[in-house]
Amino acid sequence: MIDPLAIPPALSAALDSIADPSSGLGLAQAGRASARQVDATIDAVIEVGGLDPAQRDSIERQVQEALSALPGVKQVRVLLTAERKQGPRLIAVASGKGGVGKSTVAANLAIALARKGVKVGLVDADIYGPSQPRLLDAQVQPEAYDKKLVPVPTKAGVPLLSLGQLVKPGQAVAWRGPMAGNALSQLIDAHWDGAEILIVDMPPGTGDVQLSMIQKHKPAGAVIVSTPQDLALIDAERAIDLFNKAGVPIIGLIENMAGYQCPKCGEISDPFGQGGAEAEAHKLGLPFLGRIPLTIEIRRASDAGTPDPAPFEAVADAVRIWLNR
Ligand code: ADP
Repeated sequence: MIDPLAIPPALSAALDSIADPSSGLGLAQAGRASARQVDATIDAVIEVGGLDPAQRDSIERQVQEALSALPGVKQVRVLLTAERKQGPRLIAVASGKGGVGKSTVAANLAIALARKGVKVGLVDADIYGPSQPRLLDAQVQPEAYDKKLVPVPTKAGVPLLSLGQLVKPGQAVAWRGPMAGNALSQLIDAHWDGAEILIVDMPPGTGDVQLSMIQKHKPAGAVIVSTPQDLALIDAERAIDLFNKAGVPIIGLIENMAGYQCPKCGEISDPFGQGGAEAEAHKLGLPFLGRIPLTIEIRRASDAGTPDPAPFEAVADAVRIWLNR
């Protein structure tokens, strides 16, 4: 006979070393693990959303071992579930480095999705240069109630929360790891009531802040933005690797600033080369979501705070299909 009272401590001990990313408690204490016993069999259910594949494997092994060691146990079945957190699904828009148009893509993707009927919000998590308040003409400090921020409505119809709204314009912020992590969490755990999808404009690069943010908030998928030239692509590969490590699926690659049409003579030139991101996507076996040209209109509209998402429609459709929306 299994002693039912022996099960919870054994489960807790097995999961002690693995912290729940959202509460900091052990997984068992955070209520993400439970076990029930029928005759000589124990069924353990562990909610592993937000954990990486290596952690999942080690959880499965540890729980198997710990519960099998209890007297009277003939069989242990461990079920790992990736139950989605309540609230909107996150789509990370990321790039290996800055200046490739990640923020421009994130804003226009959000607006294009909103115009297609998706209830979408935009989170500007770019700690190094939060540009969304200017892009969407929403340089307003957000209000808060119940200790949570209220997203700021924008003319483009996409509510926004940005680190840029939390500091004075032009003020440099030296975000350190944990401080940046907390600030980013506040943007995501906000009053996004009714939003189905949050487009998250990620900080460029692949540092610790990015990784912990991805692990903690577990995006449903990631869109990688790159310019066509080799250097940006090498960085994009690093960004892809970061998401792979965290077990986040890559929705696909976007090639931005691909081809420049001279407004005077109409000739198309390729200042950053052509087709690099598409070739990279094929090489890595990832979907290629489309090519956005380098145009004066895109730059002007961004600077004026009146983005026109027309060039981003095809990319938005690809993301919508991926989301099944
Ligand atoms: P990132 O977020 O990668 O740092 P941004 O989105 O801020 O890059 O873009 C950098 C600059 O390039 C901005 O001035 C933006 O308006 C401009 N830009 C981005 N994409 C395009 C494009 N396709 N055509 C013209 N200008 C662009």
